[in-house]
Amino acid sequence: MSITYSEAPDVKKLADEIAESLEFFHVVPQLVFCLRSKGSTSRRTIARIHGLGKVWQETLNLPASYVIEVISERYDRLTQEEREKTIIHELLHIPRAFAGGFRPHKGYIDEQIVDQLHKTFRKHKQSIGQVFKEHQE
Ligand SMILES: [Zn+2]
Repeated sequence: MSITYSEAPDVKKLADEIAESLEFFHVVPQLVFCLRSKGSTSRRTIARIHGLGKVWQETLNLPASYVIEVISERYDRLTQEEREKTIIHELLHIPRAFAGGFRPHKGYIDEQIVDQLHKTFRKHKQSIGQVFKEHQE
């Protein structure tokens, strides 16, 4: 079975919300695209991020851009909280320069960093009154 891709407006909305709440000002919303893939053979990947690297930017005369791909078979089964953490993780791979490359896990991304940012995101959402009913107590 080959992999198929479709637009993921739900993921895009979440990624924009997260980048805005967490003040990731280096992330250019118009240049971050979100796709949902089906039929990936990778067993453990939930999501991944692709960057349009320098050679492609020069050749095609396009700006640096990123695609967040969620693997439907796994991402769609996650709870909302896990989805949020997944997207935070992927956004953390985008470097300050927004030049098409990536930041590595080491020094930039781990569970603690993601959890902390997730708390901040949740607080921000609560403060602007957008928390879903099931999260209110
Ligand atoms: Zn990663």
